[in-house]
Amino acid sequence: MFIGHYGIGFALKKVEPGLSLGLLIFGAVMLDILFGVFLLAGFEHAKIAPGATVVSPFEFYDYPISHSAVGAVVWAAVGFLAYWLWPKGDRASRKIPAFVLAAAIFSHFILDVISHTPDLTIFGNNSPKLGLSLWNSLGGTIIVEMGIFFVGVILYRRATKSVSSSGKYGLVLMVLILMVFYIGNTFGPPPPDMISVGVISTAGQLALVALAFWVDRNRITIQPAKS
Ligand SMILES: [Zn+2]
Repeated sequence: MFIGHYGIGFALKKVEPGLSLGLLIFGAVMLDILFGVFLLAGFEHAKIAPGATVVSPFEFYDYPISHSAVGAVVWAAVGFLAYWLWPKGDRASRKIPAFVLAAAIFSHFILDVISHTPDLTIFGNNSPKLGLSLWNSLGGTIIVEMGIFFVGVILYRRATKSVSSSGKYGLVLMVLILMVFYIGNTFGPPPPDMISVGVISTAGQLALVALAFWVDRNRITIQPAKS
């Protein structure tokens, strides 16, 4: 799944307005950023296999560190602890935002279980594999993923308002960029090699995270922050 993860990041702003959209989206796509890093470092492996599913041209045959049930729980716990224990400000008030960040991180695994064929392990390549294979249906994938994405964007738009034209048009720009990437991903040719997949997964997504931080800085929350 791709922009569905971004949809979760957008939606969670409604749940915890104290967290920047950038951090929420970072959490929602963190497992894919880690996958890109581990792929480039040679710790995890996947290969391009056009036709592997109707939507995705990949065989993910070895990625238990970033994409396994145990891995997802551990990364969510890392996110929780990093935010909660950050050595600045009031720790008590950071518990709920830290939990929401952890939920964003773990949500990635749930959405991937829905879309992938059974290639997501509990932990380790010999453990049972999960995957509900939504990627075998182009129509189903687009409906589910676009649905999550647009509900998320609408919730974010309702939870915030722009304080400058950057906040207004930045959000539009971000949605457009994600749509273009999504259409290219879904209908375009497969990527040339796994190195470009790793680079896009890390650098490309970190650029989108940076854009989300910038958009969020130019918008304010219009519902009172929970105390
Ligand atoms: Zn993933």
